Amino acid sequence: MIMQHPAPPCSLLRPESNASEPVATHGALRPTRLAQFIGQDALCRNLEIFAHASVQRQDALDHCLLAGPPGLGKTTLARIIAAELGVDIRSTAAPMLTKTGDLAAILTNLKPRDVLFIDEVHRLGPHMEEILYGAMEDFHLDLIIGEGPAARTVRIPIAPFTLIAATTRTGLLSTPLRERFGVLLNLTLYDPITLAKILLQTAGLLHIPLTESAAHEISRRARGTPRIAHRLLRRVRDIAQHHNPDAEINPEIADHALRQLGVDGRGLDDLDREYLLCLADTYGGGPCGIEALAATLGQKRDILEDVIEPFLLQQRLIMRQPRGRMLAPEGWKYLGQRPPDSRSQEDLFDAE
Ligand code: ADP
Repeated sequence: MIMQHPAPPCSLLRPESNASEPVATHGALRPTRLAQFIGQDALCRNLEIFAHASVQRQDALDHCLLAGPPGLGKTTLARIIAAELGVDIRSTAAPMLTKTGDLAAILTNLKPRDVLFIDEVHRLGPHMEEILYGAMEDFHLDLIIGEGPAARTVRIPIAPFTLIAATTRTGLLSTPLRERFGVLLNLTLYDPITLAKILLQTAGLLHIPLTESAAHEISRRARGTPRIAHRLLRRVRDIAQHHNPDAEINPEIADHALRQLGVDGRGLDDLDREYLLCLADTYGGGPCGIEALAATLGQKRDILEDVIEPFLLQQRLIMRQPRGRMLAPEGWKYLGQRPPDSRSQEDLFDAE
């Protein structure tokens, strides 16, 4: 059976937004060098080798594509790479790049070996992509000056630079763009032990009296995502402080606070439960297409695919099949229900 919890005041388990958190605190929480970055070990080892080799050669590092769900550290890693290379970083997001002139201005202002970070690169317009192709491959810009018969192309050289692009959806990237990245880095959800280490490091920085076991209690309910873990930690601190300003945060206090926030023992919140219930009750456990699910839940498809599903898949509560989403046996168990097949078989036996 699912336990009923009061609805959370806002969705704390959604990694997509930083808006509600103070900017200064966020800056302070971002690790600034690879040695301080906890988790994603294989990826960090490779990055260290590539960065070191490029510094030795005094070349620009090959273009890097960072892929993975929101809140896993893509922006943080882009900044870290620039720091490891000892160069400046210029950051932007694809939806902000609408005019050729804006992208041209950014590219022509880069110094040799600088990093250009483009977030949400899968949302780049086709025209912007085309400008990037030449910039990434041969370090030049082809700009069209004038209109009609008088139009001519001008080739402007730019400094050799490193493009670091981040995406939550590698599948939406066009093949020519994807093929121009020499380093492909896939970030995966963090395991609870690693996430607990991150929380203890953050608690130290923010002077939050968090015990190790309380860090584990929060980490196993943070959907494998550092941004969510940090947000839960802050809210748990608020609730704990409200009850007793001097108390150390132990697992009992953390559990009480998390339940008050609507986060259950497995780290699922109202929207996750709604998703699972919708699959079970409206679609008989599936398979159900993503568009139909999104319409029934009144959510955007992107939110379901980028934010809700990675964790439900990781927890084996749902399965993704060519014909759509299905509730997995573990999902039926979580809901305290039985799949329709087993129900009908039992009904058959009952009838005999
Ligand atoms: P993304 O760009 O993938 O959405 P961010 O780089 O903005 O994620 O990271 C979100 C938050 O989580 C930041 O506050 C960042 O400091 C923190 N964070 C992410 N990964 C780690 C990590 N490995 N160690 C410590 N903090 C991390």
